[in-house]
Amino acid sequence: MLQSDTINFDKKGIISKILTFSCVDGPGNRLVIFLQGCNFDCISCHNPHTINHCDHCADCVASCPTGALTVENNKVKWRQALCSGCDKCIDICPSKSTPKTSSYSVRQLLELLTQHRHFLNGITVSGGESTLQLAFLVELFKAVKANAALSHLSCYVDSNGSLSEQGWNKLLPYIDGTMIDLKAWQNATHLWLVGRGNHRVMQTINQLAAHNKLYEVRLLYIPGKTDLLSEIDALCEYLNTLPQQVIIRLNAFQHHGVIGEGLTWDKCSEQQMLMFSKKLVARLGREVLLPSVYT
Ligand code: SF4
Ligand code: SF4
Repeated sequence: MLQSDTINFDKKGIISKILTFSCVDGPGNRLVIFLQGCNFDCISCHNPHTINHCDHCADCVASCPTGALTVENNKVKWRQALCSGCDKCIDICPSKSTPKTSSYSVRQLLELLTQHRHFLNGITVSGGESTLQLAFLVELFKAVKANAALSHLSCYVDSNGSLSEQGWNKLLPYIDGTMIDLKAWQNATHLWLVGRGNHRVMQTINQLAAHNKLYEVRLLYIPGKTDLLSEIDALCEYLNTLPQQVIIRLNAFQHHGVIGEGLTWDKCSEQQMLMFSKKLVARLGREVLLPSVYT
């Protein structure tokens, strides 16, 4: 077990949401921490308010019907106790951000995990892009691994795969698994869809698979927009190089939460998803996980 005197329990993360129970963010029952900030800018993003950190422009303050937002010392302050969750502030924000973030220290999160530990199999850190707060992630997972009462909890990361090889090397000793998105096959398609190419994403998938830390690859199917169907032979040839136990999970593009151009795109129907998955299964020779809802 790790020595706790090497851990910075005061290290803080900027968090947009915490779910104390989820069964779709890794194996078993998990507490999920969503970190604020992302380095992709996906047209299809269903949580665009998690992309940027708040710049305290105060444009959203007057929109709040409950007085939960105020300006103090040139910073927008959010009072959770007064918030009704109407999301008017998010709708009005011009910066793809939210005033509703909180700063949690590793110590505070350990207390929360300790309260819920009997109902949990693990902890997943998601985003935004979780690995942008790498130093916080490392300290949090070190602290979980060093705590005897929490030693049964597995530590997973949900990521867009953009972290450098060196960055993953810092996390690898403390994580048990990862879920990585592969949103397009061709580099140019990926660049158009998310604002960055996919070479790094694929290097990440290869690195994590080689260390037996790749739990799941997620494929987002957007009919007529991305190339996962038109490039299905090359895609499956690549997926077949990964260990057989790696889960291939399919996500169906929907409009929920999406803003801008993505709202003009067709949603992925269950029928379209079944057609895509049938072709994948025929080429992979194993099952893939389908979405449970299409809304
Ligand atoms: S969601 Fe935003 S606008 Fe709505 S009550 Fe909460 S802080 Fe105010
Ligand atoms: S959440 Fe958006 S609108 Fe509100 S202060 Fe921050 S950047 Fe400005």
